[in-house]
Amino acid sequence: MSDKYDVIVIGAGPGGYVAAIKAAQLGLKTACIESWTDKEGKNRLGGTCLNVGCIPSKALLEISHKYEEASHDFAEQGIIAKEVGFDIAKMMKRKEGIVDQLTGGIGGLFKSNGVTPIYGHGKLLANRNVEVTDKDGKKKTYEAENVIIATGSRPIQIPPAPFDGTHIVDSEGALEFTEVPKRLGVIGAGVIGLELGSVWARLGAEVTVLEAVDTFLPVVDQQVAKDALKQFQKQGLNIVLGARMTGAEVKRKLVNVTYEDSKGKQEAKFDKLIVAVGRRPYTDNLLSEDSGVKLDERGFIFVDDNCKTEAPGVWAVGDVVRGPMLAHKASEEGVMVAERIAGHKPQVNYDCIPNVIYTSPEVAWVGKTEQEMKAEGEEYNVGTFPFAANGRAMAANAASGMVKIIADAKTDRIVGFHVVGPQASEIVAQGVIAMEFGSSAEDLALTCFAHPTLSESVHEAALGVAGGAIHIANRRKKK
Ligand code: FAD
Ligand code: AMP
Repeated sequence: MSDKYDVIVIGAGPGGYVAAIKAAQLGLKTACIESWTDKEGKNRLGGTCLNVGCIPSKALLEISHKYEEASHDFAEQGIIAKEVGFDIAKMMKRKEGIVDQLTGGIGGLFKSNGVTPIYGHGKLLANRNVEVTDKDGKKKTYEAENVIIATGSRPIQIPPAPFDGTHIVDSEGALEFTEVPKRLGVIGAGVIGLELGSVWARLGAEVTVLEAVDTFLPVVDQQVAKDALKQFQKQGLNIVLGARMTGAEVKRKLVNVTYEDSKGKQEAKFDKLIVAVGRRPYTDNLLSEDSGVKLDERGFIFVDDNCKTEAPGVWAVGDVVRGPMLAHKASEEGVMVAERIAGHKPQVNYDCIPNVIYTSPEVAWVGKTEQEMKAEGEEYNVGTFPFAANGRAMAANAASGMVKIIADAKTDRIVGFHVVGPQASEIVAQGVIAMEFGSSAEDLALTCFAHPTLSESVHEAALGVAGGAIHIANRRKKK
């Protein structure tokens, strides 16, 4: 086969592998370069998401949730589960099995769609030439009409707490503990910090989360964030806001952490410390000086609204470009770029990208928060409905949290959809679909929802926007 392609994708995470499959489906001769290898040195497709991100974290969240339910919540429901315990090695094996199955599956999808995988580190040279260095250091150059960069992101390491792989770890290390730490510190109360903190808290660790900012989850609707914070605290997560970590030192197998809060300098001791302060775009040794691709001031590859870089025929998608660092956002961009290369003109609707925190309760949202509407001076109406008044949530022993819908006061169009509670990650899809279709709150209010379902809370919140909720006293809030 010749070494010239219509499309070369660098990176096989959810941005890159999806772009490659779509490009091949559109009749373009496509290759995808990937450098990831596992501990045995075997090539792995799937990127951060499948190997050390979304999938293994959700596997451990699901497993630990089941354990917590069985050990704490069964009794009040009349279920007698004696001697509930766990086997951490088996839990990890199950997680690894799921990862193996999914990463291997991408190889199968490449084969069936005609994508050529190329294993090694890709570097973009001038004129869409890509140099690949394989595991043995051998180099080969490929040529393409179009290059899609999808090299993703890596955890941010901060000088006060360098990762040592044993006591001070990043998210990847936190998915591989071989025993439950007695005292676990987490730096950063973002999505990843809260999810990983929850896994180990459910398995019995005493978890303290130190967060520099005073506001809990500042990007989340604050009514929802406050509700979530109360529930996390009730579960025993010690979340310390306004606490900036300043140092971490490992001494006699303990991590001594120093931080500053409103009262001054503080100290804490942990058996393990997870540093989850965010991720940086990954462009190490990716671009030759004459590649023509520019980075922005924060190190992301600079792209326009359609993911085009400054170099003709070179595109970039996913975590390595601006916007939320989410797998589905990366995939949406990958599909858009492949279709644009094939001559179509789709666009990503960045206003309709859902966000989820897979804690218990889950927190999920799409669109604007109430604080954003206020800051923008927009007129709006709000409908909320608590799961405490939802029969199905009660039956499931999960009657906490709420659905909140924000609609434009003039047009009634839904502009924000927020959920904290059971199955929030699934329920939010209803908000995404409604917003994609430009629905009004009344459209949802006039829709028939099955009874008894958690989704009836969506119906009631939509009814509540106009003050017409049935199963709760209406407190219509006009702004
Ligand atoms: P990546 O998945 O990072 O893939 C990039 C790939 O490019 C990697 O395989 C890398 O090896 C390869 N690569 C890099 N440079 C080169 C090079 N020069 N040559 C060859 N190959 C290269 N997102 C969600 O939407 N939902 C979640 O539940 C979720 N949970 C997460 C949990 C954790 C613990 C973490 C860390 C992340 C989570 N994320 C989640 C974020 C999600 O993983 C990322 O947004 C997503 O993986 C981004 O996809 P990507 O294709 O841009 O990059
Ligand atoms: P996210 O951006 O969702 O990954 O979350 C990372 C979180 O880490 C943010 O809420 C930051 O405010 C927080 N953070 C960053 N640096 C520190 C620090 N030194 N100490 C405590 N929290 C931090």
